[in-house]
Amino acid sequence: MVKTMGNVFVMADTVDKAIEKKDPRYTYSFDMLGEASTNWEDANVYYDKYLEAANKFEDSISVKLSAIHPRYELKNYKDVISTMVPKLAAIARVCEENNVTMFIDAEETRRLDISIMVLEELLKTYKFADNTIGFALQAYQKRAFWVIDTLNTLAEHTHSKLHIRLVKGAYWDTEIKQAQQDGLDFPVFTRKEHTDISYLACARKLLHSEYLTCAFATHNPFTVATIQHYTKNKDKEFEFQKLYGMGDGLFEQISQNMPVRIYAPVGEYKDLLAYLIRRLLENGANTSFVFNQKVIDPFIELKKEKKPISDWKTLYKNRINSKGYDLTDPAMIDYMLDTPTHPEQDEEILSVDETIKILTDYQEQWSNTTFEHRAKILLACADSLEEEIISASNRLVKYAFKTYPNAVAEIRETVDFIRYYVEQAEKLYKENIKPSYTGEQNITHYNPRGTWMVISPWNFPYAIFLGPICAALVTGNTVLAKPAPQTLEIAKVIIASMHHVGVPENALRICDPDIEQAAEAVKDERICGVTFTGSHKSAKTIQRLIAERDGPIIPFIAETGGINCMVADSTCLPEQLVQDVTHGAFDSAGQRCSATRYLFLQKENSKTILHMLKHRMKVITLGNSDDLNTDVSRVIDGEAFTKIQERIAQLEENEELIATKSRNGKTLPKLTIPPSAYIVSDYKQYFDEEIFGPLLHVYVYDKNELDEILNFINNSKFGLTLSIHSRVTRFYENVSKKMKVGNVYVNRDQIGAVVETQPFGGYGLSGTGPKAGGPNYLLPYVWEKHISINTTAIGGDTVLLTDDRQT
Ligand code: FAD
Ligand code: NAD
Repeated sequence: MVKTMGNVFVMADTVDKAIEKKDPRYTYSFDMLGEASTNWEDANVYYDKYLEAANKFEDSISVKLSAIHPRYELKNYKDVISTMVPKLAAIARVCEENNVTMFIDAEETRRLDISIMVLEELLKTYKFADNTIGFALQAYQKRAFWVIDTLNTLAEHTHSKLHIRLVKGAYWDTEIKQAQQDGLDFPVFTRKEHTDISYLACARKLLHSEYLTCAFATHNPFTVATIQHYTKNKDKEFEFQKLYGMGDGLFEQISQNMPVRIYAPVGEYKDLLAYLIRRLLENGANTSFVFNQKVIDPFIELKKEKKPISDWKTLYKNRINSKGYDLTDPAMIDYMLDTPTHPEQDEEILSVDETIKILTDYQEQWSNTTFEHRAKILLACADSLEEEIISASNRLVKYAFKTYPNAVAEIRETVDFIRYYVEQAEKLYKENIKPSYTGEQNITHYNPRGTWMVISPWNFPYAIFLGPICAALVTGNTVLAKPAPQTLEIAKVIIASMHHVGVPENALRICDPDIEQAAEAVKDERICGVTFTGSHKSAKTIQRLIAERDGPIIPFIAETGGINCMVADSTCLPEQLVQDVTHGAFDSAGQRCSATRYLFLQKENSKTILHMLKHRMKVITLGNSDDLNTDVSRVIDGEAFTKIQERIAQLEENEELIATKSRNGKTLPKLTIPPSAYIVSDYKQYFDEEIFGPLLHVYVYDKNELDEILNFINNSKFGLTLSIHSRVTRFYENVSKKMKVGNVYVNRDQIGAVVETQPFGGYGLSGTGPKAGGPNYLLPYVWEKHISINTTAIGGDTVLLTDDRQT
């Protein structure tokens, strides 16, 4: 299949063969099938290919910048500029000598700013002949029309002419998904006709731009005809461009009297997949001209009513989704970095006994408030937190050493928890009338249990602290909130803000973070339920303390750790796997309960993957959490540091190192542990306890061993997350079904569960459930009282007798 499609859409597998196949009626722009590279080794190979192509072809070259830098991201702009611009200049110089253009391809929206920065640097630092540098612009971008001004000004200021290739854009579905996921407005149009009209508007503007030369890349006859109409009797130089294997019929005609350039990919089958998938989507989309072959006038189409695509706000039916923060927008980044964290709060911490007394005394008053009253206050907390996302994120960066993207994600998760639990509580209270025979009313009432204790870990000081607090509050419980000692400062601010927004001080109090003090509270019979998140060991201690209490047996929710595995078969996509495993194992310095601890790789493709993993690890950036460039910052404290180092020493002694992120002679910030990965000879040996740090164990398995491995993982009784990488549906379906874990992820990483979308929580040693952010979460926080009323006892069934369905 790949081969057949490759024959249609890819010109040749080598430069020489492509030269032989050239058709003299057309000019060309060759693309060396570069796709985003994951490491420097691949990036350098792609760069060499581009340079070779520039030297061998006497035609234009199209360069995908993400192929020649493994971290082509805005946050990394200093390195991108310093390493990439000289390389691009070298390719461009060859193009200049050949009197052709080096086009910079347009990629995902999040890379548009960095691409413009690269272009600017290239033009300002080097001088090229007119139209040596080309830049692709996507008309589906809402900002495309104004980007033309930027490009024109840039060309004017650098005394050069730029060749602009106008396209509609090839990443539309990715952009929609990404924006929904990140809680951001769509950067692209969501109706095809808007893109078509934007294209025409951009085309007109380009035709009037003094310093820009136009190339119109489209296969749509309506778009082509309109451009022909716009350019009639004008002497502005322009050309059409088409993709190899598409629009042949149309351009055979057009090329007779106008210049047409073919964008011609060249490469081997192993590099084709991503490009072919884009072509497949484009050729199969029902909005696409090449699929439906209908000439549609976008100005007429515009008048039709169409169902809008859900944006981030409307993604969930009954609640507003949390708003994101765009860390790929330079202005937003500056704003975030310049915003100070608000001053610390000195929240008073009373003795455990006094605190519990205040809460229990107030319990009745709080439980007598209406749900609507409690919901209003909690929703106000969510709104206020959403507004404060910058300072709250900065606080996480400062006290919990989170990177900015992780901090923003955690604040969003917290907002989602609050809104979701409010929504779930409303459902609980509304849907409480039970089906019944006539003459009787049956209603279940969901009553608060009393004073509830929430014990939380340091690694999600907002989300895992506030989530359970709000679940308990919304169902009418008063709450004793016990933060982790490491993140007490954050907890104090949270509690003060909750009080500020309207949660009564006597309904929510902070507990001394000290374990001894907290244990006293757990033992106190006035506490009616406990939600604990942390290690299995601590959970067991707390469970025993609860068991020793006299009086009623209280609910105990425990969400604990796991030894999370990623299992890959020989069909997995290596690039995807390597990205996902490095992210899963090392993001947040591996200090996530869901982090990947073990990678099980099938022998057949393990060599390639291990090689890529080794090189991928080289491009991880270590540093302080408040540096936007940092991927991995320090671990939480000295105790954690020592424990991780002990395991590293053990692995160092006995196993084979795949890679460790080199310090490169730099002094690392205190308590920073460079990520490392080891091949272990016996996977069973390291499965005893969770090591909470940036450390990956890899085991290379023989196909026949897989069942035994899966049984072993199940028997270990840890069951939090599992990731499966395979292109065989039957494989991932069978493994998903077999494994006793709370959350299974297929062909993606296993971290970052989203409220409601991925209810989160483990099984066995990894947790009791119910899942956080799931539909059953609130039930333990209430006790159910059922009331049955015989409505006929007073003499007769008036409802039945007056029911007009009888007549
Ligand atoms: P049409 O069928 O008229 O348009 C299809 C396009 O409409 C889709 O691709 C999408 O952009 C847009 N669209 C579809 N549905 C919607 C919707 N619901 N809402 C909004 N918009 C919608 N693409 C890049 O991204 N970067 C490049 O560097 C690049 N280089 C190219 C070079 C050449 C020479 C050519 C011909 C194409 C290139 N492309 C590039 C691909 C290009 O984006 C697609 O081929 C193009 O979008 C298809 O448009 P069309 O006018 O041929 O077809
Ligand atoms: P931890 O078990 O050391 O502590 C968790 C909390 O319990 C802290 O507030 C601590 O002070 C308190 N605590 C510990 N012993 C106590 C006792 N005897 N009485 C009362 N309170 C006590 O865990 P940690 O180091 O803070 O957090 C990391 C752990 O949390 C990891 O194991 C991780 O996997 C787990 N975790 C699980 C989830 C999940 O959803 N499953 C989420 C985040 C973290």
